[in-house]
Amino acid sequence: MSNILNKDAFILPEGVIYLDGNSLGPMPRAVAARVQTMLTDEWGEMLIRGWNTAGWMDQPIRVGNMVARIVGAPEGTVVMGDTLSIKVFQALASAVKLNPERRVILSDTGNFPSDLYMAEGLVGLLEQGYELRTVAPEDVVDAVDDSIAAVMLTEVDYRTGRKHDMKAVTKVVQAKGCVMIWDLAHSAGAVEVDLHGSNCEFAIGCTYKYLNGGPGAPAFIYVRPDLADHVQPALSGWLGHRQPFAFDLDYTPGAGIERMRVGTPPVIQLAALEVAMELWEGVDMSELRAESLKLQEQFIEEVERDVPQLVLASPCDTSIRGSQVSFRFKEGYAAMQALIDRGVIGDFRAPDIMRFGFTPLYLDAADISAAVAILADVMNNKLWDQDKYKVRSKVT
Ligand SMILES: *Cc1c(COP(=O)(O)O)cnc(C)c1O
Repeated sequence: MSNILNKDAFILPEGVIYLDGNSLGPMPRAVAARVQTMLTDEWGEMLIRGWNTAGWMDQPIRVGNMVARIVGAPEGTVVMGDTLSIKVFQALASAVKLNPERRVILSDTGNFPSDLYMAEGLVGLLEQGYELRTVAPEDVVDAVDDSIAAVMLTEVDYRTGRKHDMKAVTKVVQAKGCVMIWDLAHSAGAVEVDLHGSNCEFAIGCTYKYLNGGPGAPAFIYVRPDLADHVQPALSGWLGHRQPFAFDLDYTPGAGIERMRVGTPPVIQLAALEVAMELWEGVDMSELRAESLKLQEQFIEEVERDVPQLVLASPCDTSIRGSQVSFRFKEGYAAMQALIDRGVIGDFRAPDIMRFGFTPLYLDAADISAAVAILADVMNNKLWDQDKYKVRSKVT
């Protein structure tokens, strides 16, 4: 058995095999009690005194340091807050200001749409000839030239799990004088990340996926330490001010990563995340990565053996795959609903991707075999071919 497996630390409903921790991690057992205490003993009893007495104001940096360890960032370089879409905007806005002579933001067509939408919004706001350029993921390196201000990529593709080589891409990008932003949404808690070693200027990510912070858990932003005192924050909220409680009429950015704070932190959500992050304290990320790949290889092998009608959409090469495996199937939406109905939870991404996430903290080899057996039953006996599985819900 792996040293990584820590099933008892999570609430996992009876009869469920959860292969969707890449989208929303399950609840760590300790969260409920911590949030309850936070509500009754802190908010309830302390009222506004909690900001100082219970350390609410320092929470975004304190929890940021816990996230920093998982992504290979030094202490004091990561801060929590807002949602990932907001952090994308913040990183992009600061990045283009570092390269004022250039007008292009480069990204790829494998990026999550919200990242591209936020870039479009920023470009619209900046005007002055700014544009967003997107190319196929495999063409990014060739598309980097000296018209580009910033390159923004998500390391692991949300649909296929294809993984960019962070260090190699960053090197090419910086050699052309562009600023590098990495989105770690499907990397933090999933693969080994060495932010410091990658030398990228900015990174962002969310915490409700592999980090198990709960629905709506705040995002994080990293700024390379040598730049943190120089970057210009576009979302200049009062909590990023050098002295919020001086209530100056003019904005002066705070020291270092503090300037990437915007407004009041989500204290209850951060309390949940802080407990969830404690589960990572003894976890060696290289060991976790090895276990994740073992589970993925087992899954692929068993699916290809027992369910040959599914077509692998993820790379075969494990060095360029994150912590998820996707298969294509035309009726993938219905098939996934039938699967979920039988306790195997994955998800579906248009147009035809059935997506499965691998999270060695609470999944083992027996879970994988059990999930494949149910998948084979659903597929080989066409159990998905029913009207009730074909009606699309709001969240797929
Ligand atoms: C999950 C995800 C998001 C979601 O952004 P929110 O603002 O947290 O809703 C954005 N970008 C990427 C790459 C993602 O994987």
